[in-house]
Amino acid sequence: MIEKILPGIFRIELPLPDSQLQTVNCYLLRGKERDLLVDSGINKEECKTALIEALQELDTNMERTDFFITHLHEDHFGLAPVIASNVSTIYLNFPEAFFWRDPEKWKRGFIHGKKLGFPTEELQSFISDTPDFLKRLPLEEIKIAVESYEKNTPPKKGRFQIIEDGETLNVGDYSFRCLMTPGHSSGHICLYEPQKNLLFCGDHILETITPAIFLWSGENGNPLSEYLSSLDRVFNMEIKMLLPGHRSTFQDYRGRIAEIKEHHCQREREIASVLDINGKTPYEIASKVSWNIPLPWEQFSVELRWMAMAETLAHLKYMENKGDVRSKLQDNELELYFPVEKG
Ligand SMILES: [Zn+2]
Repeated sequence: MIEKILPGIFRIELPLPDSQLQTVNCYLLRGKERDLLVDSGINKEECKTALIEALQELDTNMERTDFFITHLHEDHFGLAPVIASNVSTIYLNFPEAFFWRDPEKWKRGFIHGKKLGFPTEELQSFISDTPDFLKRLPLEEIKIAVESYEKNTPPKKGRFQIIEDGETLNVGDYSFRCLMTPGHSSGHICLYEPQKNLLFCGDHILETITPAIFLWSGENGNPLSEYLSSLDRVFNMEIKMLLPGHRSTFQDYRGRIAEIKEHHCQREREIASVLDINGKTPYEIASKVSWNIPLPWEQFSVELRWMAMAETLAHLKYMENKGDVRSKLQDNELELYFPVEKG
């Protein structure tokens, strides 16, 4: 489905087969010499056909089209390397490109799942089976882009280019500024148009879906804290229209930011109510929290439980940093989380 949003800006809604999300947006920005596609859909047949048909209808030519990717989740990034031409540039953020430079690192993360309480037999299948999305990732090209970025040399081959906070992309009458908004993913990046007050916000803020915040097993950091700061960053800007990665454009971002923050406070209260002095693993805590999935915990797929645990862990780290929670590795190698009594 193609929707003309503004002069030179089209929203292309693409199907996401087998996903609860159902659809994802990519946007065509019409330029004078080159067009820009913001995000690209997932690398699956149904989505690819829909995108190619829409781009034909809009009379685009891949030889003069570049790509801006808000984050490297496969529903946003998957098709870009597949449909881009050899002369296209695909702009990526550094933290996520850097992460995927070494896919073994991602695998090693599963080993930490054990101490978080995740069932060992299920972890084994994660470790032994390479998932489809990883097979589809153009790892070699990503690696080249990261290396030339680190050496500060322009990429010699390959189409990927790292883009940073504050950099400008001019397309047609629009001049966009890159705005780093980490949280939903480690290097999530939005595009802001300060003259027309537009924000291509990827999955940073969605009108009817709460973006998930994960701390993956084995990773450090405090992604929920980063996310809340990124929400504040957007809250303080003047925006007339937000063009998100899923569903329709919207305006009331300040109201929506308040709702999202309240959701996270609510989850924090729920997690706090589950903790006790005997301590619990993140997996146990996740199993007791209410999720927006119409199934009992026992019927969650392994992937869903893995993601629920990663969301719980993001909250636990956030609470631990505030001093509301403490964690301790036990003699049996399980990491337990305890409430902190305050006087
Ligand atoms: Zn998404």
